Amino acid sequence: MKLRPGLRVLDRDPGTLQIGVDQRWATVLSGLTPAEATLLRTLAGPAPATGEDLLRRCAGRGVASARMAELLAGLDRDGLLIEGPSGALPVGSGAGDDARAAACTAPDGDGAQVVAARRRATVAVVGLGRLGMVLADTLASAGVGGFLFDDARRVRACDVGVGGLRERHVGLLRSQAAAQVLGGTYPALRLGAGAHEVPDVVVVVFDEVADSLRTVRLMVEGVAHLVVTVREGDVVVGPFVLPGRTPCLNCLDAGRTDLDPAWPRVRDQLKEAAALVPPAQESSTAAVAGALGAAQVLAQLDGRLPATAGACIEVSAPDAVPRLREWPMHPECGCIDVSGAGHG
Ligand SMILES: [Zn+2]
Repeated sequence: MKLRPGLRVLDRDPGTLQIGVDQRWATVLSGLTPAEATLLRTLAGPAPATGEDLLRRCAGRGVASARMAELLAGLDRDGLLIEGPSGALPVGSGAGDDARAAACTAPDGDGAQVVAARRRATVAVVGLGRLGMVLADTLASAGVGGFLFDDARRVRACDVGVGGLRERHVGLLRSQAAAQVLGGTYPALRLGAGAHEVPDVVVVVFDEVADSLRTVRLMVEGVAHLVVTVREGDVVVGPFVLPGRTPCLNCLDAGRTDLDPAWPRVRDQLKEAAALVPPAQESSTAAVAGALGAAQVLAQLDGRLPATAGACIEVSAPDAVPRLREWPMHPECGCIDVSGAGHG
């Protein structure tokens, strides 16, 4: 057993140690003798001791091993101790900091395993302006190993900036430019795929209106997908759709029509207008929304429920402070029947 990598052991006062600082798991141990505190401090640091090391060292320090076992059992109950080789980085890969961070939050603390699973995953990104590029780059940085890029539009001068598109990419197909940028930064990526490969997650970046017609096939085939919509003054990240299990785009559209009967007419005009003049992808909101979108995808790949399953995160310009808004499944949508997957 060892302390989750990254946790600090801090002195509060003589006889009291604080382990970790995040309020989700920080723990205080009090009533410690100086010798017990000295031993416990060695759980953290550049060459951390294991629980077994501490128990072995008790005798030489005048600490009762039963007392140390009790303290360690308390830390274990609080989820601060993990088994095995966690913290070891996947061989020959980047994403080391992502593995270390995952060691703090993964149930078994095996951050290396989290990154290894991401390496095996493939994510499709449809829509590769600034936001889509930030999203893809963030996923690759976090260890995702395979990408399918889909955007037949050409890179414009205004796409240059956050996300990594540069002047030299202007005029190229966006999907080609994305492959150049990501492939150059992460040479081990799998880019493109066989015709039969089904991505683990598809991200679709829409302009102005999320068009449920474009996700029908994903619904029918049961492919998890994240919808991101760039609008006049904000970006909406979500919903993350697990077909048949969480509200789909059509649920949101029907819910919106309940609130505003004129919505379908407005929506269709927005769709046409966006095809002629896409909304601006402002730098701050594109960067924040792209990273938030990547976090939703990583949650799914890591086996957690994305925060945007049944919700959207709205990121408004210019403050770019995210707000979470929940959306229920619409009773008349019938999306459970579409996929046939049912609940669970
Ligand atoms: Zn639905």
